[in-house]
Amino acid sequence: MMSGSLINLIYLIAGILFILGIKGLTKPKTAVRGNFLSALGMLVAVVITLFTINDVDFTYVIAGVAVGGIVGAVMALRIQMTSMPQMVALLNGFGGGASLSIALAEYVTRTGINPASISDFLQPTVVAASAFGEGAEATIALVSISLTVLIGAVTLTGSLVAFSKLQELMKKSYGLPGGPFGNGILLLGALAAVAFLVINPGNTMAMVAILGLALLLGLFLVMPIGGADMPVVIALLNSYSGIAAALAGFILGNTVLIIAGSLVGTSGLVLTKIMCVAMNRSLANVLFGKMAAGGETIDADEIYDGKVTSAQPDEVAMLLETAQRVVIVPGYGMAMAQAQHAVRELADAMVSKGVEVEYGIHPVAGRMPGHMNVLLAEAEVPYDKLVEMDRINPTFEDTDVVIVIGANDVTNPMARDIEGSPIYGMPILNVDKAKTVVVIKRSLSPGFAGLPNPLFAMDHTLMVYGDGKKAVIEMTTALNQL
Ligand code: NDP
Repeated sequence: MMSGSLINLIYLIAGILFILGIKGLTKPKTAVRGNFLSALGMLVAVVITLFTINDVDFTYVIAGVAVGGIVGAVMALRIQMTSMPQMVALLNGFGGGASLSIALAEYVTRTGINPASISDFLQPTVVAASAFGEGAEATIALVSISLTVLIGAVTLTGSLVAFSKLQELMKKSYGLPGGPFGNGILLLGALAAVAFLVINPGNTMAMVAILGLALLLGLFLVMPIGGADMPVVIALLNSYSGIAAALAGFILGNTVLIIAGSLVGTSGLVLTKIMCVAMNRSLANVLFGKMAAGGETIDADEIYDGKVTSAQPDEVAMLLETAQRVVIVPGYGMAMAQAQHAVRELADAMVSKGVEVEYGIHPVAGRMPGHMNVLLAEAEVPYDKLVEMDRINPTFEDTDVVIVIGANDVTNPMARDIEGSPIYGMPILNVDKAKTVVVIKRSLSPGFAGLPNPLFAMDHTLMVYGDGKKAVIEMTTALNQL
């Protein structure tokens, strides 16, 4: 048996590996190494934990590792880049479910209830006074167990709904009749049951109530939220799964689970906050409403009528040939058109003609954090050509042509100039400062925020209507022929 301090030292090393791993994940170049370090930390943590507990039946452990490992590896190998948010949603749900199972198992073990007998579960049990420890220790144990059940269950069903929405298994939005108030009542009910259980540990019905109400709460919290807001919800559920894991660490007295859970909990919250700030929306607005209703209504016809200039891909190719500096701004439409490879080929063609080409990346372009970076990396665009918003913005004035492909909201000058607009304050890419702006999209339809974009009607903007991939391929062909 290892000494307690040696175990804690090894847990600390595992914790450091997790932190180095998360740090590595902040840059594409170090992301693979970061992922490896975190996985190594988890392996160390699991192996050491197995050494610390007595009476382990290794048959179950080995079977669990084999089945889980194979399923995880197959999922990771087969998943398409575009389906990554669904996979993250599902894994969050598994995390919540695992913490929930730990808490229920601990409750059943300590109360001595026969888990195979439903009738045992449905009637109050006499629990030995010391089942959960003495005094404050018992309170901490009961609070940890019941809150883990609550948060784990919300994460489980919430994540399954998020998965179903992103996988388009659930196409509509449903909610409780009372909306946020209905959810508030479910939450208050679950918290009341937590308080009741802490005072009456043997009242199994209180545990059943926490579980039932929390499972419902997870469903009703996520069901009304639109598919496009799902990445923010997933970041939040990720944070919940971390909090549930940290609480499970308290139940088991396992330091490394507390560390890992806290890291996931806080990083999920930080990501949620970053996404909300980049979209200029409050978390409440994402969870309980659509984009904030605008001050004055904005009439698209008034903005566009008679002011929009369209162009053909070959006309744009002539502009590109004479340009010195071009910035490509991708958005959700590039992902929809799967145009990333075509975009790289256009950039290659421009570079071969001596044009300086960079990509301007907005933090919430697309529908998930890092969406554009992932797609462009897949098309082997060099990382150093992907320039973040704050660094690319001052360069637009010295840019001859900006090619906006399938991006809309992230280039909308209303966010900067019109105080009453619903997206006022959302940081944008100032593409309108460039000498010429080429926008590739299929129509004048709005983007996610549902707003017209005055950029399309500016004198120095050319609209190229069509599918993103097709239009870019035509531009490249025309450019190569010049
Ligand atoms: P937008 O949703 O604003 O606009 C995308 C545009 O792409 C549409 O106007 C559409 O126009 C065009 N498009 C669609 N399909 C194609 C196609 N096949 N070829 C060419 N164009 C196409 O996208 P942005 O990337 O500019 O902005 C992202 C929005 O999503 C922001 O409002 C952001 O807040 C929100 N969001 C982002 C999240 C994230 O994590 N990144 C999470 C949640 C929301 P048309 O139909 O005319 O072709």
